[in-house]
Amino acid sequence: MLTSAILEPEILEKAHRTVREFHELIDLGLINKEGEFVPTLMYLPMTQHPPMTEKEFLKGYVPPRDNKFMVYGHIPFCIQQCAFCHFPNVLGASDGEKDVYLDHMNKEMELYLKKIGVNRMKAHCISVGGGTPTLMTPAQMKRFLSFFTSRVDMGEMKQFSVDLDPLTMLGYEGRERLKIMRDAGVGRLALGAQTLSDDMLKKMGRHHTAADTLRAIGVAKEMGFKLNLELICDYPGETPEHWVEMMKQAVKLDVDEIVVFRLKILPYGINTAAVNKMLNARDNPLMSNDEQVMLKSVSISLLERSGFVETVTRFFARTSEDYSVYLDDWLGETRYDNIGFGYYAMSAFHDRQKQNTWDLKEYCSEVDAGRLPVKIGIVRSRDQQLRRNFMMPLKNRCLLSKKLYQDRMGVSPNAVFSGKIALLKKYDLLEEDADFLRPTKKGRFFIDEMTQLFYHPDYLPFKRECYKDGPLNPYTDNVTLTC
Ligand code: SF4
Repeated sequence: MLTSAILEPEILEKAHRTVREFHELIDLGLINKEGEFVPTLMYLPMTQHPPMTEKEFLKGYVPPRDNKFMVYGHIPFCIQQCAFCHFPNVLGASDGEKDVYLDHMNKEMELYLKKIGVNRMKAHCISVGGGTPTLMTPAQMKRFLSFFTSRVDMGEMKQFSVDLDPLTMLGYEGRERLKIMRDAGVGRLALGAQTLSDDMLKKMGRHHTAADTLRAIGVAKEMGFKLNLELICDYPGETPEHWVEMMKQAVKLDVDEIVVFRLKILPYGINTAAVNKMLNARDNPLMSNDEQVMLKSVSISLLERSGFVETVTRFFARTSEDYSVYLDDWLGETRYDNIGFGYYAMSAFHDRQKQNTWDLKEYCSEVDAGRLPVKIGIVRSRDQQLRRNFMMPLKNRCLLSKKLYQDRMGVSPNAVFSGKIALLKKYDLLEEDADFLRPTKKGRFFIDEMTQLFYHPDYLPFKRECYKDGPLNPYTDNVTLTC
């Protein structure tokens, strides 16, 4: 129980007020009747992409005139599958198997660029994720970075970020890897800490300890990296009291950013995480939705009280300059085409998106056959473009430029969504001036839920009967857009 013994009355009162607003939004039909949370980083949701061929993906694609992309590389190796992770990863690969993968990734890059007619990409930003990229040996990391960056002009690059876990940053090898990355231009590290409790780490199926995380933070800062720390706030077995104590510790750490994720029960990746099966286990109860909303509110208050500001949705930084340029580009501003290489890598271009296969054998055989390893994807329709270009900036950077939308879509956002905009303003969720639409404070807290009002019914995460019949029910007056 959260009480004034561990939290200031204003923070508690704000959290209680947010829970009341949560119930009001359920009654208005905006949020699922049971208050269920669904992660929806992008539109269209990746889990609903149909199968796609290389030919369908490439047909009619025109690369940016200046060859400027956001560049992504995927390294799929993990030691074990964390219980909350929905991604398909390659577990227990030998160094030899990792070498073979790198050979194919190198080939895929060559093929991909040739097929879209680009000689050398200009990077607005680079991100390397996984999996755990730092499970490569230092020699493999060097080889990977060498072929990966040789096709990229980094002269105007804003950020080069790599995802990693604490253990792979420690010891002689860890320092070697970090040094190799730093020499290649990496400036930001996203550290998958998830929690600072050994007990919770065990429950999550993680292979490192909280002490490893603290040591890794020290090493990264000593070597001059910007550091993002990832935490999950409502994992089964977590208690509100413990979480608050942990957040008080987290905000004092020497990190530049903290991202607080809510646990994703429904898959947002291709797999369903093991956590689904544990939910009803007696020793790992899941918090109620009310408690989860409270914890999110308390986390934000504790971060803000310590001077952190929300940059990209869910990401809090000590200064507004420190944020994930890749996520902001990809999910927020969507100004650049996001080109992804590797097993399960996604490419999200201005008019289409695709996901590579997550079958390692198939990935290698497709590349060997001279084909892009495309598995699923879509060339977006007019309806999908009108919705995506509205939602993504609003949802992920909490700011929609009316001019940018007009330039891209040839029509103003107010003309396309006048009814929904008026409704959200009426219920104090959205505000606007001559140039921008942005969520109010209340709208920002419920931004994932609020933006689902703009989803096409085919992509809403819950069926019609799962919402109350209120004025904000996302199925009401929701027809295919043609303007
Ligand atoms: S959370 Fe990260 S380390 Fe864990 S299985 Fe998923 S990709 Fe691997």
